[in-house]
Amino acid sequence: MSKTIAVIRGDGIGPEIMNATLRVLDALDCDLNYEFVEAGMEALDKHGELLPTATLDTIAKHSIALKSPLTTPVGGGFSSINVQLRRHFDLYANVRPAISFPGTKARFENIDIITVRENTEGAYLAEGQTLSEDGETASSMIRTTRRGCNRIVRYAFEMARSKGRKKVTAVHKANIMKTTSGLFLNVAREIAKEYPDIEFNELIVDNTCMQLVMRPEQFDVIVTTNLFGDIISDLCAGLVGGLGLAPGSNIGAEAAIFEAVHGSAPDIAGKGVANPCALLLAAADMLDHLGMAEKGTKIRTAIRETLAAGDRTTPDLGGTGTTDSFADALVERVTA
Ligand code: ATP
Ligand code: MG
Repeated sequence: MSKTIAVIRGDGIGPEIMNATLRVLDALDCDLNYEFVEAGMEALDKHGELLPTATLDTIAKHSIALKSPLTTPVGGGFSSINVQLRRHFDLYANVRPAISFPGTKARFENIDIITVRENTEGAYLAEGQTLSEDGETASSMIRTTRRGCNRIVRYAFEMARSKGRKKVTAVHKANIMKTTSGLFLNVAREIAKEYPDIEFNELIVDNTCMQLVMRPEQFDVIVTTNLFGDIISDLCAGLVGGLGLAPGSNIGAEAAIFEAVHGSAPDIAGKGVANPCALLLAAADMLDHLGMAEKGTKIRTAIRETLAAGDRTTPDLGGTGTTDSFADALVERVTA
């Protein structure tokens, strides 16, 4: 049965990398239909809002969206579209894979780490941030709930199981933040017992950072709270050569949105040289999520081979190709 997904073409290089991505998806015969929806600058120009209700409704209807980068205009008091989407759909899990590909600026070989970051609570609450009148004392609040810990840890283990992963590492600071991080760690330990087929270990966040830089190959799936996950997922992206190859997904109970982590790159928009890999890797994760893991693997393998060969790749990767030539090379490989 064919599945329909919502597609946001995005701003800047968004439409170019989306075209390349959809070409590869079509070549794979995924039996997907696309309902294109507006958001970002396009939506602002046409409808006076960055994230129209019709867009939200379509994403809700299909429960899956593939999304290119959007520009949130600076000034004018607009709140980030990504934040709006996360709140609207309660997208509690931010999933950030980091894979080292040959022929790139990756600092290590054999990195294949997925960071699962809790995205709705912890240290990143808008409320409870105060600054005293004299400007001398600032404080903020960390809130951790058993429900929040439960669903993020469970998501990490379920994802690990469905992707055939071997190990989940819970990253915390429970030695100092005894109540908040302590609650997260206790929940992680409890849930880990339900998954005897998956190895579980726990690591303090500072040690995790050192270990990631020294011996990243020991990590498989990392699950952690909001602030630590924000930092660790970018650290991992850096280990594999930056944001150009970094996909991300935002998962909730009712909807899941798959995207590239990088921005809309207005400096190269319209030039046909944008690297489509991050969005393609997001599409591969979307296929995994939709139960088409074999096709997801095909995309990753095609990317690996194309990068290793330096075959028609884009200038940011040291190639002399274009977005289209890169997509040609990928289409040839996924259909070979
Ligand atoms: P935004 O305002 O949407 O965040 P940005 O320019 O900050 O846009 P970033 O993704 O942060 O977008 O881009 C940082 C730099 O990396 C830019 O020079 C951009 O051209 C480059 N870049 C980002 N994504 C890509 C890509 N997919 N292919 C090639 N270069 C990219
Ligand atoms: Mg940016």
